[in-house]
Amino acid sequence: MRIDVATLFPEMCEAVLQTSIIGRARKNNLVEIYCHNIRDYSPDSKHHRVDDSPYGGGKGMVMQPEPIYRCYLDIVRQTQSIPHVIYLSPQGKTLNQQKALALREVPHLFLLCGHYEGVDERIIERIVDEEISIGDYVLTGGELGALVLIDSVVRLCDGVLAADECFEKESHMDGLLEYPQYTRPEEWDSLRVPDVLLSGHHANINAWRNEQSLLRTREKRPDLLEKKD
Ligand code: SAM
Repeated sequence: MRIDVATLFPEMCEAVLQTSIIGRARKNNLVEIYCHNIRDYSPDSKHHRVDDSPYGGGKGMVMQPEPIYRCYLDIVRQTQSIPHVIYLSPQGKTLNQQKALALREVPHLFLLCGHYEGVDERIIERIVDEEISIGDYVLTGGELGALVLIDSVVRLCDGVLAADECFEKESHMDGLLEYPQYTRPEEWDSLRVPDVLLSGHHANINAWRNEQSLLRTREKRPDLLEKKD
């Protein structure tokens, strides 16, 4: 899988994408991720301007379509592939685990990060396949959204985690939250690990985990159970 990120702040994205599991996945060539500075594609070679004031008036600046389009075309030319283009936007559909699972099947993603008041509507018309939001609030830029999306998708790609089992039982995979997890020591601050987890009886452990999963979903996110039925 290849992911290209078009942003005004590539260093912000790189800092995260070099770290931890995603950084290791890149080093092991399990995923290719490239961050591109939209400013490098500005037709204004002197000031590298990428934004201007909104037509119709109003505060703030709007990102111009041409630098973004040039960045997109350059990636198409370099890779000889037409990527699936996602604009990170508070107006998009909210990202969830099902969407992350669908996106891991896409061979080439192009993530467009807006800034300021967002991007000129015409670039959305011209190149964007879908808009994705990471929640019903407004961020200053699309970079955090792109990073959240990349993290949620890449950890589901083959070979990135030690085994598929690592994510198969996780929260949101089957509409439930994960059971509680414990590690050493058996007793900490007078709190004991549930006996069943120390029993070595796998059928009982599985039954307990399934029950806990249901109980905590009912307690913490009853809305998930309503959707599941
Ligand atoms: N004026 C826009 C509006 O009201 O819909 C908001 C622009 S926001 C300040 C700047 C950029 O941040 C957006 O272009 C988008 O790329 C990104 N962004 C903001 N909130 C987001 C969210 N919830 N999910 C994903 N991206 C977001």
